[in-house]
Amino acid sequence: MTTQSTADENTTRAWVDIDLGALLRNGEALARHARVPLLPMVKADGYGLGVVPVMRTLSKLDPFGFGVATVTEGRELRAAGALKPVIVFTPLLPAESPLLRESNLVPTLSSASTIAAWIESGGGPWHLAIDTGVSRAGVRWDCIGEIGDAVRRSPPDGAFTHFHSAELDDGSMELQEQRFRDAIAALPERPPILHADNSAAIVRRSPSPWSLVRPGVFLYGVGSGARAALQPEPVVHLRARVVELRDLRVDDSVGYDATWRATRPSRVATLALGYADGYRRSLGNKAEALVNGRRVPVIGTVMMDMTVIDVTGVPCAVGDRATLFGADGDDLLTVESVAARAGLSPYELLTGLRQRIVRIAA
Ligand SMILES: *Cc1c(COP(=O)(O)O)cnc(C)c1O
Repeated sequence: MTTQSTADENTTRAWVDIDLGALLRNGEALARHARVPLLPMVKADGYGLGVVPVMRTLSKLDPFGFGVATVTEGRELRAAGALKPVIVFTPLLPAESPLLRESNLVPTLSSASTIAAWIESGGGPWHLAIDTGVSRAGVRWDCIGEIGDAVRRSPPDGAFTHFHSAELDDGSMELQEQRFRDAIAALPERPPILHADNSAAIVRRSPSPWSLVRPGVFLYGVGSGARAALQPEPVVHLRARVVELRDLRVDDSVGYDATWRATRPSRVATLALGYADGYRRSLGNKAEALVNGRRVPVIGTVMMDMTVIDVTGVPCAVGDRATLFGADGDDLLTVESVAARAGLSPYELLTGLRQRIVRIAA
């Protein structure tokens, strides 16, 4: 990942501005609301923002630790100087145990055989994953008996579950939480640390009933709907420079497959950004951009390295900055709204930002 702290005004073609102050304030707001320590989820390179500045910024909140998806991500945090507990939230491959222990990472385990293997290979802190409805990882809430002997031999330091629809008011979160409580009651002893809440669950109630909370997407500026009790500040702003301008005549086409045609004499600008940067192809003819305080349409197909916008009647020069999501002046294109235009989840849009695009964290 290329991370720098300042934009070179002349040569940076496309970049993401990461507002570390807003990231910190989003974390503070969640901590005040939940009134328990945070375990920020920084998997997938900090949701695409660049994990090192994210981790360093959130460390100011004195979190319980950090959550990642893979051993490699955990090692990256250790290499960057993370001293707090780092929990790996996907099932461990048996061969990964030595590497995980060497980097002082905490696995999440859920079967009698993986628990036994962890103990036999040397043991250490671990958390029990309890599945209450996502059906991807964890022991089923109503099958705790299967792991009774294993947890008696090596009691977990923590136990957790994960909600599938905490942003919906459909009763599913309450049902999953009851299953979680039943599972905990069925364990030989209550683990000292219990956790369940993702961003949407944290926002829904105050305080959290559990020992710590696991926020992800809210930290990075994506909320759980207009009616939610807590709204994040935007953190990520995707920018690209205008690299060429042209005047089109009626019926001139733009982009592959000529999916857009001028119906009037038009002025169009080429931006130095495409789907190879993570600005998705499905945004062509659907999304908008902000240029010099105006909203303009993205026209034609988004191409690998270039995207075209219609700037007819809008002041625009080569070298000007366009914003594809995030804020420009008083206007804001939220990650959610842009993702919705492409039929994507906001998580996908953020984590889909590619290596080529420079992250400018300040
Ligand atoms: C990603 C993840 C979270 C954070 O979810 P958000 O919806 O981004 O807040 C929490 N817990 C687990 C286990 C996760 O994998």
